[in-house]
Amino acid sequence: MNRKMDYDVIVVGAGPAGSTAAQCAAEQNVSVLLLEKDREIGVPVRCAEGISGRSLRQFVDPTMNSSRAWIGQEIQGARLIAPDGHYVDIFDDHIGYVLERRIFDRYLAQLAAESGAHVRTNCEVDGLLFDERNFVSGVRIRRGKKSERIQAKVVIGCDGVESRIGYWAGLKTTLRPKDMESCYQYTAAHPDINENLCQFYVGSNYAPGGYAWVFPKGKGIANIGLGISGGQSDLNKNAKQILDQFMSVHFPKAEILSAICGGVPVALFMKRMVSDGIMLAGDAAHQVNTMTGGGIASGMFGGREAGRIAAEAVIEDDVSCSRLSNYHDRWEKVQGKKLRRYDRLAQAVEKIDDETFNRTCTLLQKIDPKELTLGTVFKTALKHEPKLLVEVAKIFFHQTFS
Ligand SMILES: Cc1cc2nc3c(=O)[nH]c(=O)nc-3n(C[C@H](O)[C@H](O)[C@H](O)COP(=O)(O)OP(=O)(O)OC[C@H]3O[C@@H](n4cnc5c(N)ncnc54)[C@H](O)[C@@H]3O)c2cc1C
Repeated sequence: MNRKMDYDVIVVGAGPAGSTAAQCAAEQNVSVLLLEKDREIGVPVRCAEGISGRSLRQFVDPTMNSSRAWIGQEIQGARLIAPDGHYVDIFDDHIGYVLERRIFDRYLAQLAAESGAHVRTNCEVDGLLFDERNFVSGVRIRRGKKSERIQAKVVIGCDGVESRIGYWAGLKTTLRPKDMESCYQYTAAHPDINENLCQFYVGSNYAPGGYAWVFPKGKGIANIGLGISGGQSDLNKNAKQILDQFMSVHFPKAEILSAICGGVPVALFMKRMVSDGIMLAGDAAHQVNTMTGGGIASGMFGGREAGRIAAEAVIEDDVSCSRLSNYHDRWEKVQGKKLRRYDRLAQAVEKIDDETFNRTCTLLQKIDPKELTLGTVFKTALKHEPKLLVEVAKIFFHQTFS
């Protein structure tokens, strides 16, 4: 049924998932509207901003001139700090980046606009429209005191961790408290920040059920934060109090430049991300690596596939759940197996005690630092103590760098 619509595709939320979805749909010459509730795309930033070089390069080129604005720091290696304070450094070629999300997100929206998408900020979607078949057929937006209805053949919900689009569409979006990690982070100036390394503090004394991170954003400045599992209900401290304690011990001279709090969905991605006329991508579909909490790259992947498949479905004039399910199938094929494996590792790692982390670190310290690449870490851990392999995998390979 060919209907007159305002747009072929509406994307809700201009984060990494939404802008990528809008760009990829618009590249196929369908009409696209990208809606963002905030006045400014990229603000506020609720992220430690780390991403692996390999992941980033799938979507944008970090070596081109304009990338200098959205790369905060190129990272050469990772430092793992055990509960007893011993640490081990691992270097690899161009292991990753700490982004300037404020600029990066705006750059992605610019790419969407260059591909032909219309972008509207300060537009909060506060409801979905449904047609007589009960297909999602558009959105209702609020702009100041005004309300407007905009029709579309497909709506892609990329409205982040607090997504309501999926819920309104009848998809099962609920999370158990234990599936939500609560995070607190400072961007802080401190003379002892090592600008080449991302640092990970693992163990219950740093962050119960999670980890603490120090991601440099240049010399003497870093995102310093931690996430604690929502399953730790017996804690009598919140993430901010635990971080303040961490800062006073490890970064006593820190000057706090900004503070953020935020949640990360650490449940495995949604079993159903589509319905008639509707798709979800990014945090809205829980497309996060549950072991690390990282969701920039996986959200961009979800956005890219959702955008492409939405456009194809529009062109074929079939936006039914079964046609849009190609998106889910594609997600399963490329990300499903990998993310399930990470999730199993995450569950195994949850059971590891501080003493085991200490032993892992001591073991790795015996290796010649020149030999300490990600590959040799794996091999050595396997050779000396096979069960540590799983633990090491979490700590080094799949932290932010997945
Ligand atoms: C403290 C913290 C640290 C993190 N660190 C990392 C990290 O180092 N590396 C990593 O990969 N990931 C990290 N993450 C996770 C990462 O930030 C998210 O996975 C990622 O931002 C998800 O992208 P997204 O596009 O799905 O959602 P978002 O980036 O959240 O974008 C959603 C957008 O939708 C808009 N929106 C919401 N509702 C509406 C509405 N009704 N109408 C219109 N617009 C709406 C929002 O304003 C927002 O702009 C971290 C998260 C937290 C909380």
